[in-house]
Amino acid sequence: MKVIIGKNAGFCYGVKRAVDGAKKELEKNKKVYCLGELVHNKEVVNSLEEKGLITIDNIKKAEGTCIIRAHGEPKETYDLAKKLNINLVDFTCPNVLKNHKLVQEYYENGYYTILLGTSTHPENIGTISYCDGYGTCIDIEELENVLEEINQKEIEKIFVLAQTTYSIKKFEECSKKIKEKLNSKEIEIKNTICNATEIRQKETEELSKKVDYMIIVGGKNSSNTKKLYDIAKSNCDNVALVEKIPEINLKELEIYDKVGIMAGASTPNESFEL
Ligand code: SF4
Repeated sequence: MKVIIGKNAGFCYGVKRAVDGAKKELEKNKKVYCLGELVHNKEVVNSLEEKGLITIDNIKKAEGTCIIRAHGEPKETYDLAKKLNINLVDFTCPNVLKNHKLVQEYYENGYYTILLGTSTHPENIGTISYCDGYGTCIDIEELENVLEEINQKEIEKIFVLAQTTYSIKKFEECSKKIKEKLNSKEIEIKNTICNATEIRQKETEELSKKVDYMIIVGGKNSSNTKKLYDIAKSNCDNVALVEKIPEINLKELEIYDKVGIMAGASTPNESFEL
């Protein structure tokens, strides 16, 4: 049995920056708060919590220093932190920050924002906050209805972007539909899927076509991992989604010639090394 581990498996630049940054903060402070789970990986979070990281779900629960993770936060969080005198250590990924700036700029120029992604995902809640309600976050299934509504409203300028971990295929499909349905309006479409995501999805696509069994490693609540699973599933009949390799009995996989391994952006190397 040949095992091929994807070259781009594991921590992306943004997650690595947040994890390394949190470790440094914990060397300076005994107690550091983190707004939301720092990464979608229990072991990484547990080990940081043992060093003094406290995960909270509301900035009002913080005191002293509080980390903003790579997903970013809505702009109200920054205002509230200022009022509460909380020292924010901001590890919002620069790609996410770029989306915040884009949404704000287009909003200030009169554009209505369509953010393609999952509306409940923290990254999108943050990004869409920069258009002060003049926009929406939707996924492909809701697109048809939303486009009809927009056509009936007096909205002339539309700005379209995507969650940084959105599926490339879905983005292309949505962009095509938006151009077709809103052809009387002024439309600006920007592919804001981050490079790390795009490369990882492409590699998953290629690898899952070559192997007989594919293992996707990552947190169960990680949206980018779930997308890798969906991509692999569309090319390979045997796909497993696990949080770490030991969950799989590799002996049972010996009936397969080639096994591929890919890991999500918040998966540390230890979780998929053999
Ligand atoms: S997936 Fe991309 S946008 Fe998200 S944290 Fe990683 S590098 Fe940043």
